[in-house]
Amino acid sequence: MTGSLKDFLLDHISRSGPMDITTFMAYALGHPKHGYYMTQQPFGADGDFTTAPEVSQMFGELIGAWVVDLWMKMGSPEFILAEGGPGRGTLMADMLRATKKMKGFHDAMEVHLVETSPLLQKIQQEALADYKAVWHPAIDRLPKDRPVIFVANELIDALPIRQLQKTADGWKEVAVYNKGGALVLGLRDFATPVHFDAPEGAVFEFSPARDAFVRQLCKILKAQRGAALLIDYGSEHPEFGSSLHAIHKHSRVDFLEQVDGADLSANVNFSDIKAIAQEEKIAAHGSIAQGTFLQNLGIEARAAMLSRANPDKAEEVEKALRRLTSSDEMGQLFKVMGLMHDASLTPAGF
Ligand code: SAH
Repeated sequence: MTGSLKDFLLDHISRSGPMDITTFMAYALGHPKHGYYMTQQPFGADGDFTTAPEVSQMFGELIGAWVVDLWMKMGSPEFILAEGGPGRGTLMADMLRATKKMKGFHDAMEVHLVETSPLLQKIQQEALADYKAVWHPAIDRLPKDRPVIFVANELIDALPIRQLQKTADGWKEVAVYNKGGALVLGLRDFATPVHFDAPEGAVFEFSPARDAFVRQLCKILKAQRGAALLIDYGSEHPEFGSSLHAIHKHSRVDFLEQVDGADLSANVNFSDIKAIAQEEKIAAHGSIAQGTFLQNLGIEARAAMLSRANPDKAEEVEKALRRLTSSDEMGQLFKVMGLMHDASLTPAGF
């Protein structure tokens, strides 16, 4: 073994047989030695992809205002401000900076971050060095004694999916095979009955890992009160087809060929999240398009203010505004969903 992720996967498949997409994604992103998030610092212009908080400080500032508004509607309790999958820590740093002057807010909160990657945890600790914060490897480690306001941007898309494909012989599961030293996709039997039909060739995606995460989050909100804001790309009515893709240096690459050093993710199905929230008696708001959400929170006024304060940055601010909100950039592809313990409260922005 030469120590690449690909070699590890090929070897694993030779020993244990074809690997479902969930296991493949989980290793590709999370293998302690070779996983993408364990070895790379992926964000920003010279990284592999740019996320909304990395586009502009406006994103974190508005999410900060969203949290303050909600906290006040909840009666300004002592609470846990938690973020899942904080990347470089930019969103939390912008939220905290923007809310500093809000009377009583910082005194009422405890900051907690949920991050699986030790490498990214370290980067987040540097970004948040001015604040008292606590890190956890999973949401079930969050303190259980007070309300939680949880935010996550582009976390759910990194949680692994499974894929089924309809064939003349019924539904099969998509799996990764080792074909003479190359990773290739193939189909294997899927034992569980599937109670819907689709044209031959159709690919259906589902994600027990995401469902479990959302259910756990809803249970926390139910038990402790509070809310969650989930931002990710995807839709409520996904069409059949594979949305699994890999990004390296801002371009799509073949995830089987170039599995080393590429970020792997798949569209989020927001109707699955909504259905779980309903089962757990948690009120769901949205999903709505990120562009609409940010406009509802006043991003245009915020941009105008920033441009007035720094006229030489006006063009940059305008570009960031477009990137975050316009429907041919991130504005429509990304969706926002709010989950609320208290169905009588309406969160801002929806
Ligand atoms: N929110 C950041 C980063 C998004 S990338 C931004 O918008 O810039 C996905 C992040 O989720 C990374 O920090 C990754 O290490 C983390 N992550 C992946 N799987 C996770 C899991 N199961 N629990 C918590 N964090 C996870």
